[in-house]
Amino acid sequence: MSNVLARPGLPRFDYVRAGAAEEVVRLLQERGEAVRLFMGGTDLFVRMRDGVIRPQVVVDVKYLPGMREVVYDEQAGLTVGAAVTMNQIARHPAIVAHYPLLAEAANSVASYQLRNRATLGGNLCNASPAADTAPATLVLEGRIVLYGPNGEREVPVGEFFLGPGKTARQPDEFVVAVRYPVPPAGAAGRYLKLGRNKVGDLSIVGVAVFGFSDETAPSGYRFRIGLASVAPVPLRARAAEEVLANEPPGEATFALAAEKAMEEASPIDDVRASAAYRKAMVRALTLRGLRAVWEQLA
Ligand SMILES: Cc1cc2nc3c(=O)[nH]c(=O)nc-3n(C[C@H](O)[C@H](O)[C@H](O)COP(=O)(O)OP(=O)(O)OC[C@H]3O[C@@H](n4cnc5c(N)ncnc54)[C@H](O)[C@@H]3O)c2cc1C
Repeated sequence: MSNVLARPGLPRFDYVRAGAAEEVVRLLQERGEAVRLFMGGTDLFVRMRDGVIRPQVVVDVKYLPGMREVVYDEQAGLTVGAAVTMNQIARHPAIVAHYPLLAEAANSVASYQLRNRATLGGNLCNASPAADTAPATLVLEGRIVLYGPNGEREVPVGEFFLGPGKTARQPDEFVVAVRYPVPPAGAAGRYLKLGRNKVGDLSIVGVAVFGFSDETAPSGYRFRIGLASVAPVPLRARAAEEVLANEPPGEATFALAAEKAMEEASPIDDVRASAAYRKAMVRALTLRGLRAVWEQLA
């Protein structure tokens, strides 16, 4: 009988439900490329189905202690276990109260059903330039917590992304959590995502804007801008941030900063949009984000 499926389905693989972090490290060391880590599987299984990767062993790390926990402390900030799902983030009372930008970004990922599976750690480890939680994590200055042979280490998220699908994770490490510092008092943020439709699509452009008053800045305010889908890695628009720290807040400064953010983007043409359109949308969404954040700050 002919194969009526458009795709060949998942290839055969061994499933291991990890019981201890050391076991994961040992498997990564012993089996190397044959091992793939698994949390929600919404990226992993698509790539396996499409034949892009063919792991022999899929190691499920989401049941390890702490992986599905959210811990908030007024002094220490927020720790989100790597396997916490997007829907959990979008609804967690402490995240909604103290990190609403992260909740907004998580809620922008795909559809409700997918957000029940998709995890924060998986989104960042997949290292897609379009990862919706990346711009928010960049502007909130999150740190990726990795576990390896020597225990835990932290990497600032800005140093974590090295290229499409490439991160600073060593082959024998895995991500256990993301830590976010306490945001400055009175801070405000927005994540604006442009997709081809309202639900279920990767971004054409994603812009996170985060602002707070700061007496050390000549303008009295600092803004951080994170961009997705417009460069090989999600990035901060530093030149735009510089303008906003130095020039008085208002329409003229916001327009100049949006222009700078556009110049900092280096997108490609792909199936979702042209590079030229993406650049124009960086300017438009940055301006819109700055106005929205300023409305909350002023
Ligand atoms: C229909 C559809 C729509 C989508 N829409 C969006 C969207 O709008 N926005 C968006 O940002 N993404 C989107 N995605 C991508 C995906 O859903 C997200 O990136 C998701 O957050 C991945 O999380 P996961 O838990 O499913 O990761 P998994 O698929 O389990 O893992 C992702 C990658 O990380 C590795 N990995 C897993 N766990 C670890 C770990 N602990 N340490 C190190 N590496 C690890 C895996 O081996 C794999 O390479 C979409 C996907 C689909 C299928």
